[in-house]
Amino acid sequence: MRESWQERFAGSRDVLLSAGRQQTVVPVLDFVVGGDEFIVMAGPCSVETERQLMATARHIRRTGARVLRGGAFKPRTSPYAFQGLGLNGLKLLAAAREETGLAVVTEVMSECDVAMVAEYADILQIGSRSMENYSLLEAAARSGRPILLKRGMTATIAELLNSAQVILDNGNPNVILCERGIRTFETAMRNTFDAAAIALLKEISHLPVIADPSHAAGRRGLVPALARIGVAAGADGLLVEVHPCPDQAWSDGEQSLDFSAFDGMIAALKPWIEVRGIELRRIEPRGTEQQRREPEGREAARVCSVEAVR
Ligand code: PEP
Ligand code: MN
Repeated sequence: MRESWQERFAGSRDVLLSAGRQQTVVPVLDFVVGGDEFIVMAGPCSVETERQLMATARHIRRTGARVLRGGAFKPRTSPYAFQGLGLNGLKLLAAAREETGLAVVTEVMSECDVAMVAEYADILQIGSRSMENYSLLEAAARSGRPILLKRGMTATIAELLNSAQVILDNGNPNVILCERGIRTFETAMRNTFDAAAIALLKEISHLPVIADPSHAAGRRGLVPALARIGVAAGADGLLVEVHPCPDQAWSDGEQSLDFSAFDGMIAALKPWIEVRGIELRRIEPRGTEQQRREPEGREAARVCSVEAVR
């Protein structure tokens, strides 16, 4: 007889759906991840400048995002690439939350930084390169903050679930899984987006699942299609890289959407979200009257021209 999913993933039984277990909904500020609202997390790969971050935060909020993403501690492929602004980046993220009401998700790379990152962030991101660092997972779990657990780029689904189990074992039930593409023999895309993993995780686990089309695609033109696939596969939300001027970004510009591409993608996703019986809620814009009235695109153009002469 074929083994059941329960048998197959027995090492991480607390993350599996079982009789009487409810879907986990992760509370963050004034909303939940994993409920009947589709949650959009968006923002730059790296926090670069106050102007870049604030313009992005204001824009994505107007489009319906709930969470601002942005790396202050950056794991980079090259040791000589920009490594992030560190504490100053965290402070900029907190200032953006203060002004916009968006929640903040940002990566923590080291156990030593957990307390500091947890002071500023609403959700701690565990990056692909850190997924199996159990001492980091334990420390992050014990901070009490919700954890966005990205799938390792060479991790199996069983290994992803084991890492989620480690977080639960350390007293933190608020885990959000994230599919961000895996390495396969295919090299045309940055990674291979494993949409089947999203469908399977939704079938076997009670944890919310988020799709990251940006790191899977590696090219901005593919991001909307992968986002649509993620929604169709059952994802509870999206993590997507957005930058006011992607060609000037300090990291991952080639896969970042500009503001109008982001708006177009979200508008095109709406019917796909609604057909699942969930919704994308748009909250009342905050900000000054001038910011609310600023024509779409004007703010990005202004930010880009200033940043270009830096
Ligand atoms: C990121 O979200 O910018 C990032 C570094 O992602 P990953 O860990 O999936 O590569
Ligand atoms: Mn990135």
